Amino acid sequence: MDYKDLANLIFPEAKDISYYEEKYPERNLKEGAIVTRIAPSPTGFIHIGGLYQGLIAKKIAKQTEGVFFIRIEDTDQKRLIENGITEIIESMDKFGMNPDEGMINETESKGLYGPYRQSLRKEIYQAYAKYLIEQGKAYPCFCTPEELDSIRQKQEQAKIRPGYYGVWAKCRNLTVEEMTEKIKAGENYIIRFKSLGREDRKIKHHDLIKGNVDFPENDQDIVIIKGDGLPTYHFAHVVDDHLMRTTHVIRGDEWLSSVPLHLQLFHEMGFKPPKYAHIAPIMKNDNGNKRKLSKRKDPEAAVSYYVEMGIPKEAVTEYLLNIANSNFENWRRANKDASIDDFKLEISKMSVSGALFDMVKLLDVGKTVISKFTAEEVYERALEWAKEYDKDLAKILEKDKEYAIKVFGIERGNKKPRKDIAKWSDVRENISYMYDEMFDSQKQNYDYQVINDKEEINKILNLYINEYYDENDDKQTWFDKIKELSGRLGYAKEVKEFKENPDKYKAHVGDVSTVLRVALTARTNTPDMYEIMQILGKDRIKARFEKAIGI
Ligand code: GLU
Repeated sequence: MDYKDLANLIFPEAKDISYYEEKYPERNLKEGAIVTRIAPSPTGFIHIGGLYQGLIAKKIAKQTEGVFFIRIEDTDQKRLIENGITEIIESMDKFGMNPDEGMINETESKGLYGPYRQSLRKEIYQAYAKYLIEQGKAYPCFCTPEELDSIRQKQEQAKIRPGYYGVWAKCRNLTVEEMTEKIKAGENYIIRFKSLGREDRKIKHHDLIKGNVDFPENDQDIVIIKGDGLPTYHFAHVVDDHLMRTTHVIRGDEWLSSVPLHLQLFHEMGFKPPKYAHIAPIMKNDNGNKRKLSKRKDPEAAVSYYVEMGIPKEAVTEYLLNIANSNFENWRRANKDASIDDFKLEISKMSVSGALFDMVKLLDVGKTVISKFTAEEVYERALEWAKEYDKDLAKILEKDKEYAIKVFGIERGNKKPRKDIAKWSDVRENISYMYDEMFDSQKQNYDYQVINDKEEINKILNLYINEYYDENDDKQTWFDKIKELSGRLGYAKEVKEFKENPDKYKAHVGDVSTVLRVALTARTNTPDMYEIMQILGKDRIKARFEKAIGI
């Protein structure tokens, strides 16, 4: 009996690894091309950090004409949820992060390096586990959960490092005969890696983000194949990223401390290890305390939040790049209209300790992004969002597309476009005064500010609509008429005049304009009033004024 017999007894069906090595050859890419991936678990919750990693990975691959793929890590069968894969793929898609290879829905994939779903790769892991057993580098462990518990307790009592290693690794010293006997007797087992590492020796690792780090070698005989025949994360990572020919593993820094183990596994399997970049988590300022964005406490930790709020994908990706590389902001300032594809992301410039996420800044980016859209784009995107999250608004928008586009066109397409929409959920509030059904169904609060005598207000409104307003006036004439009306009623025609001689006037033209604006929209702040009036038309302006007078 030797290791080969043992390996055959455990995995009689497993193929020789040369089969897979040939099936998944080195990729034929240009020099320097980076192959990278994200490897999410379909647990139903997609964290913004996952999207962040995806963005970084995809961008780095694209910049080097490499490959970005998605691998689904579903080996923890207990945590799976229905449609979990589709949700991941759709979320990534919504933010423009569709992969070159990988799963495209629950069951199908594209690309030659699949399957891209770990639960479908069982035979591959077993072939590689068999390969390790054949060389005496892995072995079956028959310890029961109770035995493992008792080992842990003893270690705790003796205040020594927990784990299955050295003298504690009982099964590593069984002879092949003993192992064979136990297997034949039907005992349950898992497969462990036999570590030759020593805790008192150090390994050096150069991480692309964290820089140079030293770690003790790994001496734990970690589990590589679980009782259900599926691999652990560590083993799957090594097998998959080898066979999928990943050049760069970009992942969360909770895995940094596993690097010694992973490098050791790559080495013992005879594979070239990838480069590693460990991304620090996105942080949040919580009353002066910097902490990780938490799935439990922060709604904005979920990617679904951004979708529901209707924060445009362009804003989310742009903002994430902003926190990935702090020089992005300067680049954006110098390249206002450039596509983010033109920004060169540098992994080495990413924050070691974790960048702060700032919702206010994100919404600011949203405003700028939307301000650059055409009215048609705003219409299409707002409608797309509303169909899902505000059906009533969708109906209103669909009823008269041409009118809606006019509304969205107010102060748009010029040098200083309006910047008042940060997300699609702002649209309703933003355009409601341009729709009688919305305007009339809400209780309006008319705050005329400086001029607040009811009779005076009524006089201004009546005179304006009956004697001054003409739909055919150009903007200059329109404004001159407001000045004329102001002068006629004892208000300064210019703000400057008023400031020089405040006692001479009741107030100034700006205050008169405010009266018109408030009567028209019930707001003190709106985009260009000339354009608003043009779109509403004389009859509706009149109706608005009558409504205001009647209150
Ligand atoms: N499934 C692992 C996770 O979600 C993947 C880590 C990796 O990218 O290797 O954390």
